[in-house]
Amino acid sequence: MALADIEGQPRALEQLRAALSSGRIHHAYLFAGPPGAGKSRAARRFAQGANCERGVDGCGACDACRRIDHGSHPDVLSIGPTLADGTAARDGEIRVGQVRDLCAALQLAPLLARRKFAIVAAAERMNPQAQNALLKTLEEPPPDTTLVLVGDDAEKLLPTVRSRCLRVSFGPLPAEVIERRLVAEGLVPEDAKLRARLCRGDAGMARRLDEAALHRREELCAQLARIVAARGTGMSACAEALDLAERHATDRSRALAVLAETAWWLRDVIVVGAGADGTTAREDGGPLEPGETTTRGRGGSPTSPTSCLPAFVRDPIVNLDRLDDLRGAAARLSPAAALAAVAALGAAARAIEGNGAPRLQLEAAFLVLAGAA
Ligand SMILES: [Zn+2]
Repeated sequence: MALADIEGQPRALEQLRAALSSGRIHHAYLFAGPPGAGKSRAARRFAQGANCERGVDGCGACDACRRIDHGSHPDVLSIGPTLADGTAARDGEIRVGQVRDLCAALQLAPLLARRKFAIVAAAERMNPQAQNALLKTLEEPPPDTTLVLVGDDAEKLLPTVRSRCLRVSFGPLPAEVIERRLVAEGLVPEDAKLRARLCRGDAGMARRLDEAALHRREELCAQLARIVAARGTGMSACAEALDLAERHATDRSRALAVLAETAWWLRDVIVVGAGADGTTAREDGGPLEPGETTTRGRGGSPTSPTSCLPAFVRDPIVNLDRLDDLRGAAARLSPAAALAAVAALGAAARAIEGNGAPRLQLEAAFLVLAGAA
């Protein structure tokens, strides 16, 4: 079942399934949502559903489904920032020539398909000329064709392009879904569980996290816990705060990343203080058993009690392996103090984005956390 393969996106799935079963497939879609949410995979599944020889859900096994899976179906075309020879365009852009070729191919009658598809991956990378070249096809689409624009940052598309597409919104994937995939790919369950939470809904990032990044995050969490533990005791909290600022002030992007990670850590402190204990709200409503790796509750039935909730409510704790530290910090830091620290992080990030000195801004934010400002 090809469509059932779209996990953790019940609303998008419902919308696509309704289009397929009613036979009212729009001529242009914008699949919008964060990286790693499964948008490109959903675009292929949608094309399978429209062309499957056996049913509207896509069987995944017939000739049409298999060709689409392998990228060898002559009527399911795709372009992206990667050029035909496999190399990326130097500026990472999708060129006007690629779009013109795609639109010309879409005008030709299908060879095998009932409905011809053109998929534009990373559509926001189309430069303005490339986007303008799409307009004619969007305004006068050839019959029985569907264009799917897949965008991580759909707001970057021209309004004239966006407004001519039917939007299908994708959310960050629930940690539970990513965890299940990582285990299926052979990761140790404990590792999969942690990565699935740290990546905050981006399955690709969960795979890319390397040992160095995991180690940096552990050190950061430990130091944040020390700052909060020493909070209000004078010099030691301040010394830790200034040391943390110095470590991460090497460049702006590092400074911004550490501010974001600290904000997630503080969010964990707040939810732990509110009673969260690290269990995932399961699709059948019950918490996970200790050590259980979510083999139950497959798919994202729209009728299950928690599947309609955003991922940040379903999987509330990100730094799941630091639960003891988080409990200790929650006991010392009132929610109001934690929120004041979050506000200080936000102010520091805005200042750095506006050309403020990373070191000074990190110091100011971490001193608030240390209770010294
Ligand atoms: Zn099929």
